[in-house]
Amino acid sequence: MKIGIPKALLYYYYYPLWKVLFEELGFEVVTTKNTAKELVNKGIKISVSDICVPIKIFNGHVLELLEQDVDYIFVPRMMNIRKGEYFCPKFMGLPDMVKYSLTDAKDMLLTPNISSNSDDISDVRNYLPMCGILGVSAFKMRSALKKARLSWKEYRSLSTKGYTAKEVLDAMESGIDIKKEPEGGFLNIGLMAYVYNLYDEFISMGIVDRLRERNISIQTFEMFNENVLDNQLKGMKKVLFWTFSNKLLAVGYKFLKDVNIDGIIHITAFGCGPDSLIGKIMELESIDYKKPFMTIRVDEHMGENHLQTRVEAFIDMIYRKKVMSIKEANIV
Ligand code: SF4
Repeated sequence: MKIGIPKALLYYYYYPLWKVLFEELGFEVVTTKNTAKELVNKGIKISVSDICVPIKIFNGHVLELLEQDVDYIFVPRMMNIRKGEYFCPKFMGLPDMVKYSLTDAKDMLLTPNISSNSDDISDVRNYLPMCGILGVSAFKMRSALKKARLSWKEYRSLSTKGYTAKEVLDAMESGIDIKKEPEGGFLNIGLMAYVYNLYDEFISMGIVDRLRERNISIQTFEMFNENVLDNQLKGMKKVLFWTFSNKLLAVGYKFLKDVNIDGIIHITAFGCGPDSLIGKIMELESIDYKKPFMTIRVDEHMGENHLQTRVEAFIDMIYRKKVMSIKEANIV
């Protein structure tokens, strides 16, 4: 039996867990290719017009899985991974949106509710509702989840060594060992972006590779343990309602306070409600912290040249600023 996992949204955070889970249960796991314009166009056609770009792209990936003759498509309902916080409502309503946008898929969806007090979502209670549909015992589900959890822990541990989620996923898929930590560049940029915006190269237009090619070190939120990020928000009168948005906010504050970070780039998708708050908060805070900050808002029509011009101008500006401050320090 084939289980399809769309290469979109939290694929870039939980795929090592879900892949091992279904494989340990004895199923073949099928995923989709990288996002391309044609897939995006298909997703747009079946999505409500004012939904954010990542959801339109997710719908396109589900369509592609339908064409791959899979038996089931995994579309979990992500509820919460922190007490008192929730996923963005688009995640909570995702199974329903897919069901009503793609009626051909409605009987093929696996939609367990995922709820946890931490990023580790391997609690068997989240997955038990799938036992009956898939014809597996609770015991088998429990032991498959033990292995799935180890795979996800390894993934997270490599991420915290400074590798991007995509680098770790590629290495785990190909079996290449990447235990050596990435080398530092002259400039250090903090990237504030959800994993599905940053690592979907259609959305981010390969910004990570563009920066790495220029020997620029990058940091992203998933390179930090959750307790490091949680500590950043301690003492705030109020945090946001949405967990992944809080992760961005937390890493944003970490970048603002870190003297080794030369500038911050916030990559956001058109139509994202939570990011409109985060972007504004960071824009104002970056003035107080005197830290260069830039927002890149992408939509399905944006051209590569636009991104390239803006990123290069930003990098040139912070490069000159850093060279000048080194010269001044040497004079003194
Ligand atoms: S956080 Fe923003 S980009 Fe992500 S699903 Fe919600 S609205 Fe879309």
